[in-house]
Amino acid sequence: MENYDVIIIGAGILGTMTARELSRYNLKVLVIERAYDVGEGATKANSGVLYAGFHPRSRSLKGISCVQGNALYSDICKDLQVPMSYVGSLFVAFHQEGIETLKEKMKKGINNGAVGLEIISGENARKMEPALSSKILQALYAPTTGIISPFQLILAVAKSANLNGIEFLFQTNVIGLKKENKSYIVHTDTGEFSADYIVNTAGEQAAPIESLVRPADLIIKPRRGQYYVFDKQPKGYKINHVIYQAQENNEGGTLIAPTIDGNLLVGPTSENVRSFNCNETTKSGLSHVEAVAKKVLPDIDMGRVITSFAGVRANIKNVAKEEKDFVVRISAPHFVSALGIKNPGMTAAPYLADKMINLLKQEGLSLIKKDNFVSKLPSNKPFLERSQKEQIELFKQNPAYGNIVCRCEKITEGDILRVLNEPLPPKSLNGLKKRLRTGMGRCQGAFCTPNIIEILSREWHVSPDKILKSTKGSQFVKGQVRK
Ligand SMILES: Cc1cc2nc3c(=O)[nH]c(=O)nc-3n(C[C@H](O)[C@H](O)[C@H](O)COP(=O)(O)OP(=O)(O)OC[C@H]3O[C@@H](n4cnc5c(N)ncnc54)[C@H](O)[C@@H]3O)c2cc1C
Repeated sequence: MENYDVIIIGAGILGTMTARELSRYNLKVLVIERAYDVGEGATKANSGVLYAGFHPRSRSLKGISCVQGNALYSDICKDLQVPMSYVGSLFVAFHQEGIETLKEKMKKGINNGAVGLEIISGENARKMEPALSSKILQALYAPTTGIISPFQLILAVAKSANLNGIEFLFQTNVIGLKKENKSYIVHTDTGEFSADYIVNTAGEQAAPIESLVRPADLIIKPRRGQYYVFDKQPKGYKINHVIYQAQENNEGGTLIAPTIDGNLLVGPTSENVRSFNCNETTKSGLSHVEAVAKKVLPDIDMGRVITSFAGVRANIKNVAKEEKDFVVRISAPHFVSALGIKNPGMTAAPYLADKMINLLKQEGLSLIKKDNFVSKLPSNKPFLERSQKEQIELFKQNPAYGNIVCRCEKITEGDILRVLNEPLPPKSLNGLKKRLRTGMGRCQGAFCTPNIIEILSREWHVSPDKILKSTKGSQFVKGQVRK
């Protein structure tokens, strides 16, 4: 059995971020993930917002990690060439109750270290966002709120970790764990692995996994969020800021956010559901999203919706709301866990990853810096977003760059062939979609999917009925395909 210095359980944003930080040191590290790809848990379906830090409780781990993580993204995104923008946010109030909320949020933000917060009039808010409702009285402006693609982010973080020597093992479910002498033996459905240290970043499963080494005290339950995705924003109707609204009579708030790829996102709801597999959208959930969107942006055109989706948060159930926080702790000797990492966990991830590594160090992990750590990644831009000079060069190398496959997102066959040959390549249509946005545009894959299946079938030397949408049993094609 191979022994690792560290095994990380779960390749969400927290596990991969921790892996990348550990890749700076002379260590043998394995990331074990039960899904086919990185970022298939909560990280897959979020708002793509880098929170400024005025939502979490004052001076909580959530608040501090949010503000510090937000700031760390500036360098991370530069190094990894992940598109990100600090677009700023407006938290709007329609009534006196809402204005009190703005003041509370401002206080929390300042206590958490957020900078540049300012309460502005409704009129000034409308100067910044002309489509806002005329009924808005005031708004809290936060310049450090940002937007980012969760997919581009996690893929770049994981790729960087992998290029710096971290091993990833997919489709491997951790089912048990025990301490033997100095090491932990990790039992999975594909075999056993041993490690001197364990990092438990298993998201929704972090509490059951922690309970293998200490008595269980936290109960994590699913809380779903549903969204509408709008087509790329037309020039005359462009929302540039992230917009939140202060709730009235517990109506339930949602946010309206431009995405880094040019779409508009409205959501999420916040509902308790039976299981973490309840990631379907519902009529009532989406009606709520629509009502809030129309209240904040009365002229919003719901005819521009191209799809909907839902994500599920890992919510700590058995702690009072006012005491809820992220839990990052030493669960047992040489064993560190992160639990209840819901919003704004993506924003907080760089700070939390550092915290986990400090806890490992406290437990005795020897951290000796490598001299060959490479912090930067080359550009990942698709062919049609590159300069003419680069396009000519790429086309000379591979004429497949001249064949546009996904018209909505402007992706060529050459782009597809490139990502198939990169570290941590996709294994399904969704894996490709995550990397290149194929099928994410206006036609939602109606035009490009058959062509992509043909390319994958040719490149992977399998028949089209073996190409999966996502996981086992999700074939698009059943039976023989006529040429
Ligand atoms: C609807 C919604 C909106 C959100 N919006 C935002 C936002 O705008 N900004 C923000 O900062 N945050 C947001 N968040 C929160 C953020 O997405 C999460 O906090 C973050 O993604 C959590 O990352 P993670 O790595 O802890 O967990 P996950 O991404 O869930 O990763 C855990 C991984 O562990 C794997 N795993 C579980 N059990 C096992 C096992 N037994 N063996 C092997 N692998 C296992 C899972 O497959 C999964 O890949 C949102 C979340 C949701 C759901």
